[in-house]
Amino acid sequence: MPDIIRLLPDSVANQIAAGEVVQRPASAVKELLENAIDAGAGLVKLIVKDAGKTLIQVIDNGLGMSITDARMSFERHATSKINTADDLFALTTKGFRGEALASIAAIAQVEMKTRKADQELGTVIQIEGGEVKLQESCSCPVGTSIAVKNLFFNVPARRNFLKSEAVEFRHIIDEFERVALAHPEVAFSLHHNGAEVFNLSKTNQRQRIVALFGNPYNTRLAPLDEHTNILVLSGFIGKPEFAKRSRGEQFFFLNKRFIRNAYLHHAVQSAYSELLPKEAFPSYFIFLEVDPRTIDVNIHPTKTEVKFEDDRSIYAILRSSVKKSLGQNNISPSLDFEQEMGIEIPLRTKGETVVQPGITVDTNFNPFSNERKGNDTPKTDYLKNMDWGQNYSRHAYNQLELLNETGKTAHADDPSEEQQTLNTKWDTDPASETTSKPVQLHNRYILAPIKSGFVLIDQQSAHERILYERFTGFMREKKCFSQKTLFPESIELSGGDMVTIRELLPDLTLIGFDISEFGLNTIAINGVPVEMQDLNIASVLEALIEESKHRQHEFRLNPADSIARAMARNASVKSGRKLSEEEMSAMIDSLFACSMPYATPDGRPTLLTYGLDELERKFKK
Ligand code: ADP
Ligand code: MG
Repeated sequence: MPDIIRLLPDSVANQIAAGEVVQRPASAVKELLENAIDAGAGLVKLIVKDAGKTLIQVIDNGLGMSITDARMSFERHATSKINTADDLFALTTKGFRGEALASIAAIAQVEMKTRKADQELGTVIQIEGGEVKLQESCSCPVGTSIAVKNLFFNVPARRNFLKSEAVEFRHIIDEFERVALAHPEVAFSLHHNGAEVFNLSKTNQRQRIVALFGNPYNTRLAPLDEHTNILVLSGFIGKPEFAKRSRGEQFFFLNKRFIRNAYLHHAVQSAYSELLPKEAFPSYFIFLEVDPRTIDVNIHPTKTEVKFEDDRSIYAILRSSVKKSLGQNNISPSLDFEQEMGIEIPLRTKGETVVQPGITVDTNFNPFSNERKGNDTPKTDYLKNMDWGQNYSRHAYNQLELLNETGKTAHADDPSEEQQTLNTKWDTDPASETTSKPVQLHNRYILAPIKSGFVLIDQQSAHERILYERFTGFMREKKCFSQKTLFPESIELSGGDMVTIRELLPDLTLIGFDISEFGLNTIAINGVPVEMQDLNIASVLEALIEESKHRQHEFRLNPADSIARAMARNASVKSGRKLSEEEMSAMIDSLFACSMPYATPDGRPTLLTYGLDELERKFKK
């Protein structure tokens, strides 16, 4: 029997290693950007074509490489960053494994041009699938340019595995953001398919965040600053009112390297706990500096995970300094509406449930009566018959039926205790008429003055939030308001959609639908939620069925919440609809009665605040 064990040829070994280092174009982007930073560059340019599938090029003005180094850099385990095993424990650079360039060159066509400042001529090297095709002198600027073409050209399985251009480019942006955030002292640019996506000049930490994520961040951030023996903390945390429903901008950097750490995330989230509703996530950009000897970065090839020697202390320091910053900056999730407007903004703390307002039956009350505000709005508009929050107009009330737990309808004819809820802030405060009234802009936004400036509310997003909380409240309380349809509408469905509707039915009933099966694959709509009485119900249900198919996973995990979201989106008043003053006022009231007024269920902002001090600053020379 001949021996059968052989050493793998280098090219194969490199391809295997490459699989670990380079999973997708974004991994190559990360490695190249990090090399440029390690080389001390002050200016880094990233050029990408087709989300990195055809070209990833990083040009830096860093140290550059000698002829020999240029050739060596593509060898596996070739690095200038460590000499001895001890160095591993005192790392200040991003790279150290000496694997990245070898790996990238094994699975792409790479051209490197590099020159050191003290050399007249630079070096150009072309490598394809790990084989050097060309190496010669060339004239080129000081620094290094590495162009990676046709990534995975010789690993078709990998290439086919790549996601859509949008997804892959999103990953590239993620990596770019991480490196750019950690190095505001370096200028960066990013071009994709010939278009400039980012152009970031050298700046400070705060301005870098703003440059990456937009001007609104300027006012949303509170600084973090803590020096202890084991840890130096800096960076910014987002004020609670701008928290997002979806995980937004959440970044930890350890010694200027992006890391993920669920434990540290928990420390931050818990520092906010009192200030945020359950479903909201704060933004943060937190920089931790520790002695490199106290961490182990070597536990994961892509190095986004780390182990701390003393993670408990770090947790405690982080949590308390986030708390301190929130306290020092006097941040609470309230908005100080002008007193004259008399709007109370209920502050809700974690655990407190939002009680859905009941039906209000003051027979003398009409929140849309013209004499009170002295303007002349027609009353036929369904928006006015529908309540945005606490108030039901008499008209709407007359048509209301309260669906109780058993699904039977019962008239709510005991007005006694709900009557109080009619004492709305608008109603009780006549001063509001002469002072700050809300104004609608472009049939789309509501501008309302507050004590410290003004808020700009997006009517569609705001209404989506209001309806979402209303529907989830109905589901929780098993009490909803249903509007009987005069002529039950029948809708024919495909067999598959019929199955879907049956699955959704229990939760649809909870928000006010009264649907019965009517022969094979036909349903009859006998009642609809009051909020939806003027909508085309067939198309609303169709949209819901579509959504539940596309987001099967979510719908399966949490059908009630998914339905509430979809319905809120569908039934919300759209941009472009003119609102009367009463409608706007009611909407503002309802929005601030929400437990999380600042964002839609899927995390889009519902309102922006503008402070007087900010305005003053802007009008200064
Ligand atoms: P590592 O970064 O882990 O050392 P790499 O494979 O990424 O390994 O790079 C190998 C070596 O090539 C680096 O140690 C560095 O000396 C050199 N190098 C890579 N990129 C650059 C660059 N942009 N400018 C200067 N030198 C570089
Ligand atoms: Mg490297």
